[in-house]
Amino acid sequence: MFGTLSDRLSGILSGLTRRGALTEDDVNAALREVRRALLEADVALEVVRSFTDKVRERAVGAEVLKSVTPGQQVIKIVNDVLIDTLGGEGEGITFDAVPPVPILMVGLQGSGKTTSTAKIARRLTDRDKKKVLMASLDTRRPAAMEQLAILGKQVGVETLPIVAGQSAVQIARRAVEAGKLGGYDVVMLDTAGRVTLDEALMAEVAEVKAATNPHEVLLVADALTGQDAVNTARAFDGRVGLTGIVLTRMDGDGRGGAALSMRAVTGKPIKLVGTGEKTDALEDFHPSRVANRILGMGDIVGLVEKAAATVDADKAQELAQRLAKGNFDLGDLRTQLQQMEKMGGLGGLMGMLPGMAQMKNQIANAKMDDKVIARQIAIINSMTAAERRNPDLLKNSRKKRIAAGSGTSPEAINKLLKMHRQMADMMKQMSRQKGGMLGKLGSMFGL
Ligand code: GDP
Repeated sequence: MFGTLSDRLSGILSGLTRRGALTEDDVNAALREVRRALLEADVALEVVRSFTDKVRERAVGAEVLKSVTPGQQVIKIVNDVLIDTLGGEGEGITFDAVPPVPILMVGLQGSGKTTSTAKIARRLTDRDKKKVLMASLDTRRPAAMEQLAILGKQVGVETLPIVAGQSAVQIARRAVEAGKLGGYDVVMLDTAGRVTLDEALMAEVAEVKAATNPHEVLLVADALTGQDAVNTARAFDGRVGLTGIVLTRMDGDGRGGAALSMRAVTGKPIKLVGTGEKTDALEDFHPSRVANRILGMGDIVGLVEKAAATVDADKAQELAQRLAKGNFDLGDLRTQLQQMEKMGGLGGLMGMLPGMAQMKNQIANAKMDDKVIARQIAIINSMTAAERRNPDLLKNSRKKRIAAGSGTSPEAINKLLKMHRQMADMMKQMSRQKGGMLGKLGSMFGL
């Protein structure tokens, strides 16, 4: 599954603990996984090649930040190249031309073309306060014309009255004319689709384009069709020239592969994405969100950035050395708790880790919230240095003193001591065995 790319990367790179520059071998090992994951996600082979070349170029010799692991650093580079390949943020559709501005919608039948036409018309009307006219040019399928008229009523957008017997070009001209006469800002032309690409379809679309000189030619493509969508995009772009892409059914595409291929192959921006059947299920395209989906993680990149900014690498190093000797005292626990607080508390930390949602719930059930962290730090602060080093000293009288000092109870202290014992055991195991969720969690802290 696509979702495991970041896991795979962390896995193969978790053995690399030394700091310094990334070597060609490190990077190649990571790239094998990247290549496999992209191919599994149905990304076009040529795109996979140029993508991995770019990552290699950027990664080999790159300095590993002091406070992140090489694995995390590679993930960050892959993420950055993904965002570059997916294109810039916020390239929405434009209509800065003399009204009525024609927008031509093209694509295969069933791609979501008519629905997307209505979605865009609705957005232009409601959000951008434009006066929009829609027209269906599908002369072969009266049902398609009806469908647009029904959608138009639903979203409160006018559609051009249907006149039987007209050709696509005639309807398109009539729509633009009606747009002028009626004072419309935008005229959306929903061209006919075919089940497969054919020359008659292309010729018709090209003719309509020549007759109306549209400001935007948007290809509507179904993200779920992967490679086919890419071939469709290439064909339409070669024959009629596109200004952008509307990628539909992104609600069903958990992998994001089509978006990557489409953009890389055509060089045309993905301007909007369809995320459902309803007429408001239309979103701007955010390369960073798709990159996250492709890497299959919560915001691990944000976590690396946060870690880079907050984790004190030297302290982590010191702690790692102590752990290697089997030491994890209450002072170390305090350092960990403080680190957690810095990174936005448990909630913030868990939310950013992939696959941790369940654990987050468990913690919430156990009432292990951020206030608890602060209280635990207060308890440890009330101890003497000797007590922190050796919790066995903590008999009842000392517990009472610490409870009073920290405004807690002896029970709270017992709970903390129990947690510390469990963590100490866990840390011992972790230092023996890297990898796995706890190992990963540990490496987040630079252990
Ligand atoms: P056309 O033949 O290209 O005009 O396709 P339609 O607009 O008639 O859409 C075909 C089907 O796909 C309809 O049932 C739509 O509701 C559905 N559809 C369109 N866009 C999306 C989308 O973004 N997500 C989902 N889940 N369904 C969509």
